[in-house]
Amino acid sequence: MREQLAALREEGLAEVASAQNGEQLAAVEVALLGRSGRLTALLKGVGRLAAEERPLIGKLANEVKAALSQSLAAKQEELAAAELAQDLAGVGLDPTLPGPPAPFGAVHPVMQAARDLEDHFSSLGYVIWDGPEVESEANNFDALNIPADHPARESHDTIWMAEDTGPERFCLRTHTSPVQVRALRELGAPLRVVAPGRVFRQEAQDATHEHSFHQMEGLVVDKGVGVPHMLHAMNSLLEGVFGRKLETRLRPGFFPFVEPGFELDARCPFCKAGCRVCKGTRWIELMPGGLVHPHVLRSAGVNPNEYSGFAFGLGLSRIAMLRSNIDDIRWMMSGDLRFLRQFPS
Ligand SMILES: [Zn+2]
Repeated sequence: MREQLAALREEGLAEVASAQNGEQLAAVEVALLGRSGRLTALLKGVGRLAAEERPLIGKLANEVKAALSQSLAAKQEELAAAELAQDLAGVGLDPTLPGPPAPFGAVHPVMQAARDLEDHFSSLGYVIWDGPEVESEANNFDALNIPADHPARESHDTIWMAEDTGPERFCLRTHTSPVQVRALRELGAPLRVVAPGRVFRQEAQDATHEHSFHQMEGLVVDKGVGVPHMLHAMNSLLEGVFGRKLETRLRPGFFPFVEPGFELDARCPFCKAGCRVCKGTRWIELMPGGLVHPHVLRSAGVNPNEYSGFAFGLGLSRIAMLRSNIDDIRWMMSGDLRFLRQFPS
């Protein structure tokens, strides 16, 4: 009996090893360990053994069974892995290739307008400058010639920070103009700089008003800078934005940080009967600007007797809306994918 069990073990392991596929392996398993398999048949003879030999043979039989089962399981795994590899090769799938590309986002229309303008101004030698969105009262208003009692403050519905920030008050900047002061202090004169960024007002929202929107500030300070330089900069900017020359006109405008101040209007580039963009006036208000007020130069440490300059502001959100024919500013910051997906870059 011992010899028979040993032979079964040896032959069984060899049969398992030589199985070529899952089917053959299953047949080997049945032949070895099945109900009418070889091990079962052998064990039927245990009853004829001497009583003292029975437990020894039983133990040996269990060992043989365990060895065969283990070898069957290992072989099954090996065959399954081989079959999978074969299947993958069959359908032409290479598991080492990278997966399908993840979908890319697109550049937001406001950012696209900002980038195009940054390119335009960089090519003219301007520096792109950045400022914080939380700004001190001093930079947002005082340094720009808008003291506390100035009526212009009322047109800026300011969102103030909590009062416990110390002696200085802070707000969410209401315009990008404080970057003029920051850039001048840091870089000094002469200077050509543009500052794109987000600004905040406590506005009741409607199709043309939003609590957050984007502006771009431009500032040039040098010796002998005047209105003709400003006009050239503004006109070339519009040409850069809209890809063609636009007819423009200059109207007087009041902004505390410039003197004299202007509003630049452009001929409506979209005009047709019943035009919604210009509401039939054929002009659209695009850019306020003017010559930098001496007080602003002084508060940035620049001598106004030596240097002069011009500044202009541009509604980036407005430009993006005009370029893409968007009729409601609330779409811009909505984060609505149905809107954003219409602007693949
Ligand atoms: Zn129009």
